[in-house]
Amino acid sequence: MSGLVFIISAPSGSGKSTLVNEIRQTVGEMDFSVSYTTRKPRGSETNGREYFYIGRDEFEAMIRRDAFLEYADVFGNYYGTARRFLDEAGKRGHDLLLDIDVQGASQLQKKLPDAISIFILPPSRIELEKRLRRRSSAENVPDDVILRRLQTASREIENYGNYDYILVNDLLEDSIDALKAIVLSERIRTTGREPSVEEQELFRLAELYRLANMRASIQSILATFRGSESSVVSN
Ligand code: ADP
Ligand code: 5GP
Repeated sequence: MSGLVFIISAPSGSGKSTLVNEIRQTVGEMDFSVSYTTRKPRGSETNGREYFYIGRDEFEAMIRRDAFLEYADVFGNYYGTARRFLDEAGKRGHDLLLDIDVQGASQLQKKLPDAISIFILPPSRIELEKRLRRRSSAENVPDDVILRRLQTASREIENYGNYDYILVNDLLEDSIDALKAIVLSERIRTTGREPSVEEQELFRLAELYRLANMRASIQSILATFRGSESSVVSN
């Protein structure tokens, strides 16, 4: 019942949707902002669940109506967060989870300075490419689309320093535990009460992922993205 806003960003393919879905299913009183997009649904995605899929004309009409808290052009498609999700979560006393790109996060951090931001990194560029290829294989996504996502990833990850927490999504179970610890410890913090012994463990875990505590250890990951923007390996 804390009314917190959690912003999650990550290069496409890092596993952000997987982690966000887990949080949506297992953490209570957490609303998810379903973004609007002009891209087509992927795989089993369903209108109103992952996104609202609309045409460019409709999206631009929403921009004119000032219906978006933020919006951005990502990979040639519009993506936007509707204002109403923030209003509705606030009315319910729920927290709100936003899955948005680095451009949207930067717009929102100015409008909502108390928002808690989390950047998810893949363990390496090669692992990101593998995940992108695995996810794309069923849909016959062409190489140039994968290449574009990897190039965008190289640029996006340079924004990691604008986030409160950095999570390297290597072992999925560890990432889920870390993300839950971040959310639950931030909730306890807003109550102002002393954490119990069990809750102190959540704080300890969450602190490991603070930007200041992650800077040194992620340098080797960032290095795998530098100077390799144009190479794509095939599997
Ligand atoms: P994003 O939302 O960041 O674009 P997805 O959640 O769709 O990424 O994940 C991309 C692919 O990587 C999917 O096939 C997913 O099952 C897989 N994946 C996610 N997390 C992990 C992980 N920790 N280890 C291995 N594969 C993962
Ligand atoms: P995908 O097409 O892989 O689902 O998402 C592509 C990118 O768009 C991801 O980085 C995702 O976080 C971002 N995105 C999704 N919804 C929004 C939104 O409402 N606003 C912004 N700015 N980015 C979004």
